[in-house]
Amino acid sequence: MQTRYFRDVLLDWNARENTRQMPWKGVKDPYKIWLSEIILQQTRVEQGLAYYERFVGAFPTISDLAAAPDDRIFKLWEGLGYYSRCKNLIHTARLVSEEKMGQFPDTYNDILELKGVGSYTAAAIASFAYGLPHAVVDGNVLRVLSRFFGIATPIDTTEGKTELTGLADRCLDRGDPATYNQALMDFGAVVCKPASPVCGSCPLQSRCAAFRQDKVALLPVKSKRMVRKDRFFLYVVAEYQDGIYVRERTAKDIWQHLFEFIGHELPAETDWEDYTALLEGAWFRELLGKGSYTILGASPVYRQLLTHRQVKARFIHLKLTRPLVGEAFKCVQKGELSSLAFPRLLNDYLRAPVHAPQLF
Ligand code: SF4
Repeated sequence: MQTRYFRDVLLDWNARENTRQMPWKGVKDPYKIWLSEIILQQTRVEQGLAYYERFVGAFPTISDLAAAPDDRIFKLWEGLGYYSRCKNLIHTARLVSEEKMGQFPDTYNDILELKGVGSYTAAAIASFAYGLPHAVVDGNVLRVLSRFFGIATPIDTTEGKTELTGLADRCLDRGDPATYNQALMDFGAVVCKPASPVCGSCPLQSRCAAFRQDKVALLPVKSKRMVRKDRFFLYVVAEYQDGIYVRERTAKDIWQHLFEFIGHELPAETDWEDYTALLEGAWFRELLGKGSYTILGASPVYRQLLTHRQVKARFIHLKLTRPLVGEAFKCVQKGELSSLAFPRLLNDYLRAPVHAPQLF
């Protein structure tokens, strides 16, 4: 049977050749497994490692995380992106700490009810922490299974997901689901990789359908191609005395709960070329009131790729003659900027001394 062969060869590879090390591997503490899985959602392992270490160091237990102020947690999360994950982390830590007396849920269905936990994360926590027989199914697993079993049903369709989830369940080692799940994830990361799988030394090669039919580059199949839209922001870095004006983004949009300068979204990239004319617009004049300004510098274009967006921004650094009008923005001392959580794109600007002198 092909599923049995797949499982046996995979576990043999894991026992003899798999040297992939990660700090959460073999850990049984559901809090740490959950933390690592939330960090790794939409984040590469190499990037997530340092964040995991930092979170575990700062908050060794879920109660420590629950008791920490939001600002501190967001600051620690800074740079990881997808801040809804951080909000879910805070929500769940407090729920478990306050309503479940610190006891992390211990069944698949209860874990699945936690905010920000989908079927993949629930299967990972259930199998790694409690040894429950649930197969993890993420992009890595879909790729490996599609290739080895030669499945051409698009993996981003309900039909494809149902077919491959059923197959993943049949392949699972019910005696030791934790080892099997971790082995499959490692195999997808180091052998059956997305762009350049190492078929030449792959232990599954002799029975791999994609390899035998010369379809490795064609599998897995996806029905849709993702189109990324661009967004353009002109940021005014307004300096008054020793402070810079910032505000927290509260709207349900990208970068919610992160800080930003005075931002103005533009319909097209070319619109920011004449930024002196843009500064005459009501969005900025109303903030200025009777004040005026001197332009200290203008940055080149900075970019940040998000899943469905590419965000581009330019920064205009100004010195104000009077404080801004209204409460929308607050003037923060330059020395305090580094304690605020900014989107990566704004941090890139702040950390480039040639563009943002003495701000950070
Ligand atoms: S032979 Fe290539 S495509 Fe097939 S499982 Fe191995 S690495 Fe993946």
